[in-house]
Amino acid sequence: MSHAQDRIGAWIGWAFFADLAKALALTFGYMFSKPVTMQYPDKEKWLPYSRYRGHHFLKRDDEGEIKCVACELCARICPCDCIEVVPYEDEKGKRHPAKFEIDTARCLFCGLCEDACPADAIALGQQYEFSSFSSRELVIGRDDLLAKPGKAATGGSVVAARLNVEPKVLVETGGRQGYNWWRNIRRR
Ligand code: SF4
Ligand code: SF4
Repeated sequence: MSHAQDRIGAWIGWAFFADLAKALALTFGYMFSKPVTMQYPDKEKWLPYSRYRGHHFLKRDDEGEIKCVACELCARICPCDCIEVVPYEDEKGKRHPAKFEIDTARCLFCGLCEDACPADAIALGQQYEFSSFSSRELVIGRDDLLAKPGKAATGGSVVAARLNVEPKVLVETGGRQGYNWWRNIRRR
């Protein structure tokens, strides 16, 4: 197309406000389309995929004993140096963690501790709501880690939720998930 034709086209565009009409059509199109905003957290919540790396949890064996043998491998491999393990030996010579703490304020959720653990004792679950105004509260001890929810079998979807005024239960879901995952993770 020649330069003169370009100019004529531009003038015709101006004359009929073609660009303006296009922009307004886009704007009105969005105004009347279905909103995609998630009503978090009072109406909807995101259930992460099962491979999501959220809050850590410690596992128990079939007898209900903590699986961790306090080998400290997780603490050694952690790039943030945010795991502290203090071992003790019981009367049978078995090692257990007398102290097991993770500073989740420093953790980058890389999952190396889970990969390194020879006893399959620690993993990163799907809980992602654990912010706090106090960094001290983000240092999580052994008993709290044992009480944390594990990995959910399903995920990757938005589930219905509603705010709850019961103490310590801020949000619960209304959708069918097999078990009330959100209620579980909000209980401490
Ligand atoms: S997820 Fe990574 S940074 Fe966090 S505690 Fe485990 S090894 Fe350390
Ligand atoms: S969680 Fe695993 S790697 Fe860490 S101290 Fe316990 S047994 Fe060792």
